[in-house]
Amino acid sequence: MSDRADFLSRLEACLGAQSVLTAETDVEGFVEDFKGRFKGTALCVVQPGSTEDVAAVVRLCAEHGVPLIPQGGNTSLCGGAVPSDESGRPVILSLSRMRRMRTIDAVNGTMVVEAGCVLKSVQDAAAEVNLLYPVSLGAEGSCQIGGTISTNAGGTNVLRYGNTRENVLGVEVVLPDGTVWDGLRGLRKDNTGIDLKQIFIGAEGTLGIVTAATLKLHPLPSCFSLAWFAPSSIDAAMRVMSMFRAAASSKLSAFELMNRTQLDLVIRHVRNRKAPLANSADWNVLVELSDVREQAELDDLLQDLLAQAIEEGLILDAVVATNDSQRAELWEVRHSVTEANKSAGIGLSTDCAVPVSAVPQFIDQATLAVRSHYPEMDIVIVGHMGDGNIHFIPTISFERWKAIDDKSAVSAGVRRLVNDVAHKLGGTFSAEHGIGQTGVLAMADYKSDVELRLMRLIKQAIDPQNIMNPGRVLPR
Ligand SMILES: Cc1cc2nc3c(=O)[nH]c(=O)nc-3n(C[C@H](O)[C@H](O)[C@H](O)COP(=O)(O)OP(=O)(O)OC[C@H]3O[C@@H](n4cnc5c(N)ncnc54)[C@H](O)[C@@H]3O)c2cc1C
Repeated sequence: MSDRADFLSRLEACLGAQSVLTAETDVEGFVEDFKGRFKGTALCVVQPGSTEDVAAVVRLCAEHGVPLIPQGGNTSLCGGAVPSDESGRPVILSLSRMRRMRTIDAVNGTMVVEAGCVLKSVQDAAAEVNLLYPVSLGAEGSCQIGGTISTNAGGTNVLRYGNTRENVLGVEVVLPDGTVWDGLRGLRKDNTGIDLKQIFIGAEGTLGIVTAATLKLHPLPSCFSLAWFAPSSIDAAMRVMSMFRAAASSKLSAFELMNRTQLDLVIRHVRNRKAPLANSADWNVLVELSDVREQAELDDLLQDLLAQAIEEGLILDAVVATNDSQRAELWEVRHSVTEANKSAGIGLSTDCAVPVSAVPQFIDQATLAVRSHYPEMDIVIVGHMGDGNIHFIPTISFERWKAIDDKSAVSAGVRRLVNDVAHKLGGTFSAEHGIGQTGVLAMADYKSDVELRLMRLIKQAIDPQNIMNPGRVLPR
């Protein structure tokens, strides 16, 4: 007890008492994930305001052997940013006060921002100087740059601009012994040995705390052309995607898929969401082109491709957004899936990616596997089809879920069936959400011994005391 009190008073001496939260009412929003699926207890929540503050906290934790959980916007879908048990030992380090945008260099196409900047505010700041930070996802109004870097977030623009990893040129990291590594270079080319920043991108806070980053900016598209269409089958959707890729090349920025069940859930559970097409269809695709040139050229390209696909019988019905508010409405339907699924029941979500060409096989085989073992489940499908990343979400009503005795066996069994299909097709069980708490066992199942050994060696070398987000990512 006196150790605890001594430790807390040393934290307060570093940060000021107002930045060390211990009261239950103050910490409750930090110890539970946004879906209410993961909850634990923490010693306290600290809210440092600068990199030096973070370093001081980490040094203190290292000295006392206290585990640290970095937390950004707490939008992780795999319980990565909250404590996993009731030990009350870890310190949650919230980056929320570190929201300074340090510099923007429009000529270099870079900006340096602190880890706690909300993704949307970074996109807006880049747009003010006519540039684009392209990482975009449903949680962009809450998730933070540090969180998106630590999970290597994907989202709806990966097809054209790549994952977060492709859009980060440098990072500043506080290492587990409190050393600050300033790797905030804004270089497009740098071949000076191992690319160290990549070790921290996607590490989910297990190797250090990202305190700032140099982000890569792109020309801001001035025109968008978007359509929502119903392909005649999933194979037809693949053929349409190939047509768009061939004709639109890098102008193709999104090709998002959802099945009828997913769209129905959005319409039913999220206020003000309307069905894009008059008749409901088995499959729905949102396709978007973007460019910095003429709007009319882009619209013509979209219309021509849709017309060709309709003529070939690949598309049953389509609607084209004719103004910004229609475009925003259609994107809102796409971005509402997580909210809808949360209200609809228990969704045993998965985050598989397979080679793009194997998407139809993945959907067929996973559907067959789940239906034959769990016929009572609805199959909800939404995905970034252009990246081969399909969220296959067997879903069950709250009442039926309540009646199941061994819930963890069912949820593990369902995920196993789906992940096995992806694995056999050369895919992965975690495309963009990361590992967090939910994926640790799957790491043991699906990663090779060599990969696990290399990851453990890196972890051991950088964090020998295992104080950084312990129990996440790597199986024991
Ligand atoms: C509605 C909704 C839609 C989503 N859509 C997508 C999507 O399309 N694509 C996608 O990839 N994800 C998606 N996600 C998941 C989530 O938004 C992302 O994983 C996001 O990158 C997490 O950012 P965050 O700031 O909330 O991080 P948190 O949830 O706070 O943390 C995530 C992980 O990163 C670690 N971490 C956080 N900040 C730091 C830091 N500064 N340094 C070191 N480690 C840190 C945490 O310890 C944790 O392990 C969605 C989530 C929601 C709720």
